[in-house]
Order: sequence, then structure tokens, then C-alpha cells
Amino acid sequence: MIAQDILVVGGGLAGLAAALNSDPAHKVAVISKVHPLRSHSVAAQGGINAALGNNPNGKDDTWERHAFDTVKGSDYLADQSAAELMCKKAIPTIYELEHLGVPFSRFPGGVIAQRPFGGAGFPRTCYAADRTGLVILHALFEQSIKKKVKFYNEWLVTRLIVRDGKCLGVVVLDLTTAKIMPIKARAVIFATGGYGRVYLRTTNAYINHGSGIGIAYRAGIPLKDMEFVQFHPTSLLGKNILITEGARGEGGYLLNNKGKRYMADYASSAMELAPRDIVARATQTEIDKGNGFEGQYVHLDLRHLGEEKIKKRLPAIREICMNFARIDPIDEPIPIQPAQHYSMGGIDVDESCASFVEGFFAAGECASVSVHGANRLGGNSLLETVVFGRIAGEEASNYVKGSENNEEGEKVLLDEASEIKSRIEEWMRRDSGIKVHLLMNKLKVIMSEKVDIFRDKRNLAEALERIRKLREDYNQVYISGKNLRFCQELVNIIEFESMLDLAEVITLGGLNREETRGSHYRMDFPKRDDKDWLKHTLVSWKDGKSQIGYKDVKIEKYKPVERKY
Ligand SMILES: Cc1cc2nc3c(=O)[nH]c(=O)nc-3n(C[C@H](O)[C@H](O)[C@H](O)COP(=O)(O)OP(=O)(O)OC[C@H]3O[C@@H](n4cnc5c(N)ncnc54)[C@H](O)[C@@H]3O)c2cc1C
Repeated sequence: MIAQDILVVGGGLAGLAAALNSDPAHKVAVISKVHPLRSHSVAAQGGINAALGNNPNGKDDTWERHAFDTVKGSDYLADQSAAELMCKKAIPTIYELEHLGVPFSRFPGGVIAQRPFGGAGFPRTCYAADRTGLVILHALFEQSIKKKVKFYNEWLVTRLIVRDGKCLGVVVLDLTTAKIMPIKARAVIFATGGYGRVYLRTTNAYINHGSGIGIAYRAGIPLKDMEFVQFHPTSLLGKNILITEGARGEGGYLLNNKGKRYMADYASSAMELAPRDIVARATQTEIDKGNGFEGQYVHLDLRHLGEEKIKKRLPAIREICMNFARIDPIDEPIPIQPAQHYSMGGIDVDESCASFVEGFFAAGECASVSVHGANRLGGNSLLETVVFGRIAGEEASNYVKGSENNEEGEKVLLDEASEIKSRIEEWMRRDSGIKVHLLMNKLKVIMSEKVDIFRDKRNLAEALERIRKLREDYNQVYISGKNLRFCQELVNIIEFESMLDLAEVITLGGLNREETRGSHYRMDFPKRDDKDWLKHTLVSWKDGKSQIGYKDVKIEKYKPVERKY
């Protein structure tokens, strides 16, 4: 049986940061269901926040102001000490990335350039044109190769094994051979990213099914604040490829069918650079009111920025528009509509990325520390991955130092692996039933129609009922092919169980939370209610079903007030 001291699941930014910062005295490996450079982090466009104060309009910026903006942006649901920790570490982290070889864009004097982003009091988003995620991921991957980190690519983790409050390892499916294998580990770090593909309209990569979050949930670890789903206001019409907030940061306008910059009616001072939840709601409202085009979209206009700026600062956005919408943003406005983008909620961990299970840690988008609360600011997610990825690596290393090798764990791991093998055999044996992609599509439609930007009791309750009904259908899925190597149908069947769990937890949390906060907008409860709802939602899988609970938010320096932009 393969045994590791520290097993990192996920080859995106959080996973690589964790692996690179684990103590090299330990045996460290990264498992990823795709090649690490195909992780969704590679698609990140607009930038990463740190109060460097390099922009002439941002000289007075400090990490404390960054922390305040983060807490305010979160609609006061972020744990304030966690937000402070992240914003303070942001500054040395950017310089460290620079020294590791990340080619950030520069101002003429040579310092790292910074652009304005939504909800930020100062221009503090560092970037590499509009390919920021790509360059950071490549730099960290190069460092991982240099440091001889062991990679197991195209391995899908299917289960996290916990006994008596201790993590023993995982069970994986090697996609290239279809073999099921138990892997023993003293510490496991999940860095498995978001669940965007639970929705029909999403900016997320096809691999973002969220199975890591679902696997942790089934192992008994609570999920926190899952009802907070971020919708990005500017995804390309129809394809829903992201058009970065950086486009508005560079000065882009949002226009309705009357040519009006409609944000004036929703956030008159921040305008297009209000936080995402506000801009996404405003955009959807304009479309719903008939102020959009063909009832579906509005315009993001970059034309006034001029050819030079667009080519220099937003080259990938231009490429996306030309390849997928057949328009050149130098000459024409971009048709955009809101789409699911990010998961604020996730696996419940503390500021050291530790869960209540000994030896199990989580970092990055799959985790909820929580620094984003009810709404994440653009540029804070890349930051979270590198800051908390590092902390997870360091904390797991400390944990492993004091832990004992658990010999009995092997039997448990083998039993769990053979249980999964028999499930796969059962799916193979059936020669008829329901094809999983049909169920997947049904689930996505439910989520995009009923658990969307605007929510109410009737739609959420109906969604919950329909999701639970899909669970019954799931019992009838089968594998229609005969070859299990690189079998997407098998991957989908395994991951769909997690998708159902996540959809249920998102919907249940949203149904119970009878208030409006950040991205969670209840038309039947349109006000924030700090008296009853200034608390984190925790949903756990217990006795074969979901159970909901709550815990306090850490409110320290910043007293909750109404958000105004
Ligand atoms: C289009 C787009 C643009 C964005 N732009 C920005 C931006 O400019 N600034 C910003 O701050 N944020 C941005 N974000 C958000 C940010 O990029 C992500 O939140 C962040 O990169 C997530 O990193 P991660 O390491 O947590 O996960 P990911 O990069 O998603 O990596 C997840 C990893 O887990 C692996 N994995 C998942 N499940 C399993 C499993 N069951 N078994 C084995 N492996 C598994 C995958 O193979 C992958 O390697 C953007 C997001 C999108 C979608």
C-alpha cells in the first residue's frame, strides 16, 4: 500500500502552495484528477490583492484597510481575525511569488503594477495582464518540480477515511488503469477547489464538480456557509466564459439597452466597481426589467479604453471575445450575463486550516476558513489559496511530527477500497437504468433556476424536494460502456453523489437563512438580520442524512454596519 506522511489532494494553487511549504523531511505527495496545470487556478485572470501601495492612487493603502474592505465586502460574515491574517500576509506573499519567478505586470518605474477591483478602497490588485492565475500556477509548478514533489496525476480521490476522529488516508481511482487503491497518510490536505459545475451557467472549468467538498462531508466533516454562492456579473453570453473584473478595473462600463451606465442606480459612488454580489444583482435586475438585449444580456463596453490598453492589459479577454463571440472588444461592446463563479462556503476549518478531525486539513476554494463570509472580493481568492495553502502545509508538517504511525489503519483502508470496488461492479453489472449525465443536467437546471441570484422560500423548497428525488434516481445509474479506463461516465457517477450532497447543503442552508446577506438574496426577506442571522451555517452528514447547525462569527475590530458603496 502506498503510504505518505502528507498527502495533498489538488494540484491547483492551494495544493501546490501546501506541498511546497510542507517540511521536506516528510514524504509529501500531490494527487490530482487532472494534470496540475489544468487545475482551474490556471484560468484566473484579473489579479491578486495585497496592499503594496504601488499605485499612485493607492499610496495610503495598508493591510488593515485591505482587511476592513474584506470584512465589509463579506457583509460582516467573515471571521475578522482570519481576514486580518490573510491581508497581513498578503504583502510578503506577493514578494515571495515575485522572487519565485512570477512575471507580474509593472508600472513604468519598475514596481509591481496594481489595478482597482470591486469593493476595494484602493487600487491593490496585482496582476500579470489578464493571465494572473496562469503565471502563478506555472511558477509554483516549476518550484514543485525543482523540489522533487511527488505527483500522482489523473487519480481521482473517491473517499476520505476517518476513524475515531483521526484521518487515516484516502481511497483513489487511477483513471488511467481504473484501479481502486487505498493510500495511507498521516495527514491529508484537501485543496480540491470549487463546485461551480453544480450550476448550469458557470464560469468554472468542467472539472469543478466539487467532489472534494462532498467527500469531506461524507467523512463527517461539517460544511460551512454553503448557501453563499458567488455569481459573477460579467460572463460571456451563452458560453459563460469569465470576462474578468479587471476589465471594469481598467475602466470598462456596464451599459443597458438604453446606453445607460445602470450602476448609477445601484451603487452611485463605486459604480461598476461595487462588490460582485451588488453588480451581479443589478445586472440581472436590468435584464429582468427589460433593459437588456433579447431578454438575456447587457453590454460591457471597453471601446473607450482604446486599442493599446486593451491589447496590453486585457489580451486574453480580447482573444476570448474574438474566438467565442466573434467580436473584437476594441470595436464592439461585449455581451455579458451573470453566472455562478465561486464558492464562499466549504469545508469547515480554522485559521490553521485544521478541521475537527485530527490530521485532516483543507485550504483554497474548497475550504471555508472563513475570510470571504457572505461575499468574496475579486482578487482575494488567489490570495487565499497561496496564504492558506502555505499555512496548511506548515500545520500538517507540525502535526505529522507529533503523530504515530497507525498500523491498524491499513485494514480499514483496504475494507473501504473493496467496498468501492463492489459499487463499481454493481454499476457495471446493470445493463439498463439511468444515464448519469441526464441526472447531472437535471440537477444543474434546478440549481440555475431555483437556487440562483434571487431566491425565495417557494423556489428553494421546491429545489430541495427535486434534489432529494434525484437521489432516488441516482440508485438506478449504470455504466453503459465496457472499458473503465479514462471512463468519464464512471467519474461522473462517482462525483455526482457529491454534487447531489452539495446541492442539497446549498439549498438547505439558503432555505433556512431567512435574511439577505452578501450573495444570498431572499426576495421574501430582503434585509440583513444581524439579530438572528449573524452566524455561520454548519451542515453535517450524520446518520445518513444532512443536519444543520450554527456557530458564532468572530467579530472583533469592525462592528457590523449597513454596507454602502
Ligand atoms: C475563470 C476564473 C477566473 C478567476 N479569476 C480570479 C482572479 O483573477 N483573482 C482571484 O483572486 N480569483 C479568481 N478566481 C478564483 C480562483 O481562481 C480560484 O478560487 C482558485 O484558483 C482556486 O484554487 P484551488 O487551488 O483552491 O483549486 P483549483 O485550482 O480549482 O484546483 C483544484 C485541484 O483539485 C483537484 N481535484 C479536485 N477534486 C479532486 C478529487 N476528487 N480527486 C483528486 N483531485 C481532485 C483538481 O484536479 C485540481 O488540481 C477565478 C476563477 C475562475 C473560475
